[in-house]
Amino acid sequence: MFLVDVVSGLLRPASCLACGAPGGWPCCARCLAGPGDVGPWPLAADPDVALWALGPYRDALRAAVLAGKLDGQPAALAELGRRLGAALAAAGIGADLVTFVSARRVAGQPRDHAERIAGGVATALDLPLVDLLAPARGRDLGLARRAAGSGRAPPPRPPPPARRRLAGGRVLLVDDLATTGRTLAGAADTLRLAGARQVQAAVLATGPAALAGVAGGGR
Ligand SMILES: [Zn+2]
Repeated sequence: MFLVDVVSGLLRPASCLACGAPGGWPCCARCLAGPGDVGPWPLAADPDVALWALGPYRDALRAAVLAGKLDGQPAALAELGRRLGAALAAAGIGADLVTFVSARRVAGQPRDHAERIAGGVATALDLPLVDLLAPARGRDLGLARRAAGSGRAPPPRPPPPARRRLAGGRVLLVDDLATTGRTLAGAADTLRLAGARQVQAAVLATGPAALAGVAGGGR
């Protein structure tokens, strides 16, 4: 595993994942401007959860996230996570530990995107990264939606189980994207039931439905 990480680090492309500018890996300054407005905004699916993000899921940020997820560039996700963490530090976020939305393997492939991003966030914030959540039981939301094939909303998925209990504390929950925000809301419920005093969420990018007060929010 260590060797793989070293090799993928050595072989990573130097160019911007979004526009191809040389030396801009993972995202050049033109494509991903310095920390702008990173939140927090209330999560539509649970307004008690403050949501932070590098930006909306479009344009250069979307290209960089997709490249990190689909082109096997875990180092890019960790670096984008580090930038997210640095922006949260600049915004003065208060948290005691970082955890992430855990996903089951699909067809034998690990889906550790959120863990990679959370690692970068935790490093930038100098906070411990703790594996608090087990993968949710039930069907994968995207797979269930495709299987339904009718555009109807899939049945709600049960929240993920907690791996351990907490004695209070402020938890920063990390995922790659917030689309509906329901995954984050379910995970936040679990963390509070497990003893967390406060849960905030941070993602690389958000869709409009994830944010309260935006048209289409809450779905
Ligand atoms: Zn670029």
